[in-house]
Amino acid sequence: MNNNTFKTLTLGIGIALIATASYALISPKKTDPIHIKTELSIPAIQAVASDIVIKQAIISASKESPKPQLKQLSHKITKGENLSTIFSDLDLSKKDLYSITHANELGKQFAAIRPGKDLIVATDSNGQLQQLTYKKNTIDTLTATRADNSFKVKVISKPIKIEVASTQATINSSLFLDGKQAGLSDKTIMQLANIFAWDIDFALSLRKSDQFTVVYEKLLVDGQEYDTGNIISAEFINQNHSFTAVRYTDKNGNSSYYSPEGKSMRKAFLRTPVKFSRISSPFNLNRKHPVLNRIRAHKGVDYAAKTGTPISSTGDGKIIFHGRKGGYGRVIIVQHGQKYSTLYAHMSKYKKGLHVGSHVKQGQVIGYVGQSGLATGPHLHYEFRVNGVHRNPVTVKLPHSEPIKKSLLADFKKQTAPLIAQLNKAKAHSQLAQNP
Ligand SMILES: [Zn+2]
Repeated sequence: MNNNTFKTLTLGIGIALIATASYALISPKKTDPIHIKTELSIPAIQAVASDIVIKQAIISASKESPKPQLKQLSHKITKGENLSTIFSDLDLSKKDLYSITHANELGKQFAAIRPGKDLIVATDSNGQLQQLTYKKNTIDTLTATRADNSFKVKVISKPIKIEVASTQATINSSLFLDGKQAGLSDKTIMQLANIFAWDIDFALSLRKSDQFTVVYEKLLVDGQEYDTGNIISAEFINQNHSFTAVRYTDKNGNSSYYSPEGKSMRKAFLRTPVKFSRISSPFNLNRKHPVLNRIRAHKGVDYAAKTGTPISSTGDGKIIFHGRKGGYGRVIIVQHGQKYSTLYAHMSKYKKGLHVGSHVKQGQVIGYVGQSGLATGPHLHYEFRVNGVHRNPVTVKLPHSEPIKKSLLADFKKQTAPLIAQLNKAKAHSQLAQNP
């Protein structure tokens, strides 16, 4: 690139540049190649009275006619203000206001400006509005730029850079507190708990000196972390049992977590279908029935919970029964493949829209706790059958979800090997820090 064909911008025409330059940064396809290169060259200006910081920016002198000096004003939007009142206060044309909000679909977003944020108003020497800029959030900025008698409105999005980070921590009090202490976001801690949820009961089985290592994505804008992305790999050591998970995305873009051997971290079933306060009656084949007062096998588990507590299907499946069933009251039975079925009884009501034949997903709400049928209080009676035989839902060995298909195993290994290497590096690094 020949730098002589460019000149550094002056503050006076800086406003026009905000759009031009940042546009060039994020949208190379739509802009001419000259602008794309500009970010790499020449010391330049500090972007103007806006928090869109363009550290380096220049413009093609041959392409842009020099704009007259623009006056720029930053207005902090206060409660009760809207674009119309601001235009009145700043003595701007109502016609321009209409033209901006009706420019295109994006124009309407100017009508939804929020208190506490800044509106940057650039006017020419006649006081005529030339550009309006509103920073929606860390990434998106809305601009309206005059083009003769109308305005062009567009959203400028900053590029998001993904950086890989890792953290290692030892449990002292709780996953949440120790995770925070180790610098993890709430989001990453939740992701971590969800990945290992089938193997580790974080409420009951976490112990002091349990350990975890997590490799995850940090999302950066302007070199500043603004959010966290996905966990890429993680290890959790719970009561001396080590569990390792790695993220894999298939050709259709579906991501899930697997062991390094390609076994799913998910189980085909959740252990419990409801958030319960206690087990009010366990699985017992010789139980005396509390209402009938005679020996009658209790072929399920009773989970006491408040009326209206949501009940989830514990696995993917198809509803094969939906209705009343004697002492069971309102019941749903879900069939899961050939081998398994689950039953949910005493519901106060069903989730709307479900019927016999409906497909349900693991965790999907199918109804609500109640005491319909023969029941002494609100609870969920839950049964788990394997090949038609009742098994204890609390202790039955739950099958894993589908592992990686054999045909995908090579792709899986190739994609996940570097992610596991990163995890091992993070583990080695923290061990080194502990035993220097
Ligand atoms: Zn029961």
